[in-house]
Amino acid sequence: MMRAQPEASHFIDGRYVEDAGGRLIENVYAATGETIARLHAATPAITEQSIASAKSAQKKWAKTAPAERGRLLRRAGDIIRERNRELSELETLDTAKPIQETLIADAASGADALEYFGGVAGAIAGQHIDLGADFVYTRREPLGVCVGIGAWNYPTQIACWKAAPALACGNAMIFKPSELTPLCALKLAEIFIEAGLPAGLFNVVQGYGDVGSALVAHQNVDKVSLTGSVPTGKRVLALAGEGVKHATMELGGKSALIVFDDADLEDAIGGAMLGNFYSTGQICSNATRVFVHKKIKERFLKRLAERTAKILIGDPLDEATQMGPLISAAQYEQVLGYMALGQEEGARLVCGGGKTSVAGFEQGLFVQPTVFSDVTDGMRIAKEEIFGPVMCVLDFETEDEALARANATDFGLAAGVFTRDLVRGHRVAAALEAGTCWINTYNLTPVETPFGGTKRSGVGRENSMAAIEHYTQLKSVYVATGPVESPY
Ligand code: NDP
Repeated sequence: MMRAQPEASHFIDGRYVEDAGGRLIENVYAATGETIARLHAATPAITEQSIASAKSAQKKWAKTAPAERGRLLRRAGDIIRERNRELSELETLDTAKPIQETLIADAASGADALEYFGGVAGAIAGQHIDLGADFVYTRREPLGVCVGIGAWNYPTQIACWKAAPALACGNAMIFKPSELTPLCALKLAEIFIEAGLPAGLFNVVQGYGDVGSALVAHQNVDKVSLTGSVPTGKRVLALAGEGVKHATMELGGKSALIVFDDADLEDAIGGAMLGNFYSTGQICSNATRVFVHKKIKERFLKRLAERTAKILIGDPLDEATQMGPLISAAQYEQVLGYMALGQEEGARLVCGGGKTSVAGFEQGLFVQPTVFSDVTDGMRIAKEEIFGPVMCVLDFETEDEALARANATDFGLAAGVFTRDLVRGHRVAAALEAGTCWINTYNLTPVETPFGGTKRSGVGRENSMAAIEHYTQLKSVYVATGPVESPY
């Protein structure tokens, strides 16, 4: 028996389902290279089964009192919190992120979403519009069957960020995890059943991109919410467009962090490190372009290098470890490629720059946290999403210059500014073209806050009350109170 083998590959209509005819998915723990589970991608029969089950469950669910829906979601949140340790260990095996992170950032943020949307379920309401004698009321109705497609960096969080608002609004969800991290969503499906959620409302099907496409294209699917890269987002959005379906796209970024010369230096360095090294740099909103004012650049780099050298890379299951390996061999090659490219492009390597090894984990895909300085806007390392622990430091002299350069990208997911001048902080946040801006911190994404991208980084918002807009549709009901004035 492998270390994390689930009962079967898919979870449909309240139970595990297998179809060994599907393409093999080998789930590898990136710290050791060991296969921890073997699953199968969904066959067309499995996809059909998951949609039929979701469609029939959703009809009843839409008629369930919202307060009751909310109660079940909150119960699932409670179970997640009780099992945080076990779920965090699974998340670490699935993603190879350090347990120090998963204990606080993954299942726990999933529970936050279930509690939040469990709480607001009963408050989802339409409007009454007075027309004098007649009136209109609007009903906020569910969309129907929603498909969630996840990236591999936050498998539990992504599943919960999508499922919690979808279910609160009376929809069903079919979730397809990334084939690199198939395990966590299955646990979530089990927990929903344990919490009392009717079978079929949250189904999990495994697969590669083609399974995601088949789900999105299906006539009985009404919405897709994808977390993934921009190229995948374009394809999935086009597919949704063909069927005139609702779509939320949470895509990649190349976000800017602007550090002014009046900033608290230690805080700014802490923010830049959080925004580049957390989860081994595999975070969509990372501040991979750090603009540092020329006056403080050398001091900034010196302290940054000192603090980066102390990052503890090691066994992800050891609570002392601060950085684990990258998720997959492909990602490892890509990140190492960019580390070499930065040097070829003439950036100054401040620290890191290549692979590293951990005793006892010789097969692990570990790389060094890396900082490049003297990066210029035209370099590929400054333009392309690397998705690894590679920080590019660029220097600037004026606010206008920093803003123009920060905004000169097709991405627009997130941005940040460090300054003690709060008027400037708000002015810069207003001018940055990004869906989320942080002033004097970085990468905090509480469930109360809308999260999503501008420009090519996405469409729609997750979390907060804004998510309700994306999982419901309005029906206007006109009520006449007098005779029909017909010219005929
Ligand atoms: P991908 O875009 O490669 O994949 C995302 C998901 O889409 C996977 O489940 C993938 O399946 C699936 N998929 C791939 N092709 C298709 C298709 N044609 N139709 C339907 N589904 C498809 O992203 P990664 O998993 O590599 O994740 C990294 C990317 O995600 C980065 O660009 C990152 O910035 C972004 N991201 C964005 C976040 C945000 O909230 N904005 C958060 C986290 C990551 P499979 O993997 O099986 O091929």
